[in-house]
Amino acid sequence: MRITKIVLFCAITVFMVLGSLGPFKSHDDLETISPGPGVTQVKKLSDYFPELRGTPGDTDIYVLEGKESGGCVLIVGGTHPNEPAGYCTARIIVENFYVEKGKVIVIPRANISAFSHTQPLEATPGKIHFSWNNKEMIITIGSRLTNPIHQWPDPRLYKTTGGQILSGSERRNLNRAYPGNPRGTMTEKIAYAIMQVIRIEKPQISIDLHEAAPEYTTVNAIVAHDRALDIAVEAAMMLEMDGIDISVERSPREFHGLSHREWGDNSETLAFLLEVANPSQGRLRGKTNERLVITGFDEYYLKAAKAGRLNVPYDEKGLPLNLRIKRHLKTILMIIDTFNTYNHENSIVLTDPSGASF
Ligand SMILES: [Zn+2]
Repeated sequence: MRITKIVLFCAITVFMVLGSLGPFKSHDDLETISPGPGVTQVKKLSDYFPELRGTPGDTDIYVLEGKESGGCVLIVGGTHPNEPAGYCTARIIVENFYVEKGKVIVIPRANISAFSHTQPLEATPGKIHFSWNNKEMIITIGSRLTNPIHQWPDPRLYKTTGGQILSGSERRNLNRAYPGNPRGTMTEKIAYAIMQVIRIEKPQISIDLHEAAPEYTTVNAIVAHDRALDIAVEAAMMLEMDGIDISVERSPREFHGLSHREWGDNSETLAFLLEVANPSQGRLRGKTNERLVITGFDEYYLKAAKAGRLNVPYDEKGLPLNLRIKRHLKTILMIIDTFNTYNHENSIVLTDPSGASF
């Protein structure tokens, strides 16, 4: 009888372990990105830093090149895969946009390792189903940090290139790793490879797409490197005239490791980081599920808004993913338009033939 119980216990344990592996394993199967008719070349990040080839840090790069020569813009999504609007925006450009003049380089999954897991204790849904321009999209939601199975162990504390002391896990944060290190950790190698894309391709404009909690101070904002500040301010004024409330922040000079600081300090590019508000990653949220990611509606955020605790307007309409993506797209296009005004020869003309982005 005792042996029967032990066998039964072992069988149930094995069954439960195997059952729980499914959701973890499904994260390794990333959905396909289908390049649209505007894509002229698909490359790998390892083409710019061969040491990444065959590693979990290598990721696809899509090039959309126009018939007419002009300037170049780099668009980076998926720096933080728990911020789906950034990844979705980059993917929508790859799958739908067309370049008439100049070149657009898109990296939709900048930290592809971080797409292979979710953050512990955040209850993030692993996959969401989303519709854009009447087309179904499956979206993987990942973590803010590189997967620890690809980079381990974390130090107790992490010192950035600028000497700031952060918690040890931040060593796996791509947006604290720039300008990267070719002999460093997986995250530092990815950062170095993206820096190599900028050094080799010489984009005049580079944009890093993010989302942040609605209670965070830098939200619905353009963070701009010193040299990019004029364009950011003018683009923000134009967006305000179109009814889009947006603020501009100068990239703090002492805040190292971040794209908007290091891309600009280590190359000629004009570096921007865009933030939109996402309640599904905020601290005040209730139940975290697919519906919250898609609709951005949460009753606790509504209470917080009524109590004046949020930095963005918030009501029963929530902050849908669709809207967050459109905000990113409009800001990207406005930054490019503003750049074009002063750089006729190097101008970039990027269009969405479906019109769904506007
Ligand atoms: Zn982010």
